[in-house]
Amino acid sequence: MGEHCLLSFFSRKLNPSLQVGRIFEISQEDLLRRDIKGLIVDLDNTLTEWGRDAMAEETLDWLRQAQDNGFGICMLSNNRGDRLARIAETLNIAFIEGASKPRRRGFRQAIELLQVEPERIAVIGDQVFTDVLGGNRLGLYTILVSPMSSREFIGTRLVRIPERAVLGALKRSKRKG
Ligand SMILES: [Mg+2]
Repeated sequence: MGEHCLLSFFSRKLNPSLQVGRIFEISQEDLLRRDIKGLIVDLDNTLTEWGRDAMAEETLDWLRQAQDNGFGICMLSNNRGDRLARIAETLNIAFIEGASKPRRRGFRQAIELLQVEPERIAVIGDQVFTDVLGGNRLGLYTILVSPMSSREFIGTRLVRIPERAVLGALKRSKRKG
């Protein structure tokens, strides 16, 4: 595969629709204007630091506001366990664990749960090869956030290396126009 083919693959499947620092920097007005009605949200390093329960006040406010704005929210995580259920219950949102992102099964379950058409759903997550790739495969609006901390699963740390390469290539190709 030449540079051009690789880039076109990157831009179709690995390119997020939007990139922001933290989840609470996402403008809900913009989402509403795009007719987004459902949110599929990653947990680790998107809502909380990896493996932790604590959530920033701004994140909690953003989620409460999203609920007030009428967005359906489903947490979709490759992780599983009591922590997920506990956080979902605290937030009063649906959740799917052991999702095996970027596989489509978990995303499809989330879409089913939200009862919203895929083109009106935004995926929010911190990983290109799970959250963004999975969302793009199903035609969802994908939002990449910066990971909240550098503490993460060893496998994720390894994946950050090609992820940085992809994001760099995408940035360069955008600059070229
Ligand atoms: Mg994550």
